[in-house]
Amino acid sequence: MDLQFFIILGVILTFDGILMTFMAWAAQSSSLKKYRIRTPTTYRIPKARKAINIGLNAILSMVFFAAVLLHFGDYLISSAPVSGVTVFGEVLASLLLYDFMYYFLHRGMHNPKVMKYVHGVHHFVRFPTSTESIYLHPAENLAGLGLLCSAMAIIGPVSAISFLIIFFIHSTVNILVHSNLNLPHPAFKLLNFWAIKHDLHHGKHLNRNYASIFPFWDLMFGTYA
Ligand SMILES: [Zn+2]
Ligand SMILES: [Zn+2]
Repeated sequence: MDLQFFIILGVILTFDGILMTFMAWAAQSSSLKKYRIRTPTTYRIPKARKAINIGLNAILSMVFFAAVLLHFGDYLISSAPVSGVTVFGEVLASLLLYDFMYYFLHRGMHNPKVMKYVHGVHHFVRFPTSTESIYLHPAENLAGLGLLCSAMAIIGPVSAISFLIIFFIHSTVNILVHSNLNLPHPAFKLLNFWAIKHDLHHGKHLNRNYASIFPFWDLMFGTYA
């Protein structure tokens, strides 16, 4: 990992911060809120509590990645030269494995006890916007990131470029699934698909749509809505 790696990581984090802020603004703006999947009746979380939670979770995520890269970097990232095909394979395999494991983690978190003490923090959000993508109990945040790193270690170690692409896709999809927007243009088809599926999970069908990126796992295990 060289300076370039950390610069690109910084660019991704900045992009995600801007995207999160913009999508949350879009969901509440006077011109775009008509495209909201569900119009909120009320926001249950005080603004200060939300700001503290997402701020601390953002810091926790960065500290987690810094610690993992420092202590287990060799298990995650390889310095061997790679081809474009290898990068594609590493990215696809790592994300498929992550989402498969996340399906069971998420489904397990719907156990009433875990829901009460951990996952219920996230589900207290009934009408999500993108900023609530990281409105979480810290244990849930660490468990999700731990799974992502485990998937890369099992598939890999992956190349530095694969790590950055996986990191980018994982963080960006998490923001987009919480956008709560159904935008009327074919360019947003995938974004709309993710947002509608996850909105159902926050609203009508709490025990459906556990997977985060791919719909296969819910289809396979009978929890697709
Ligand atoms: Zn859930
Ligand atoms: Zn959610």
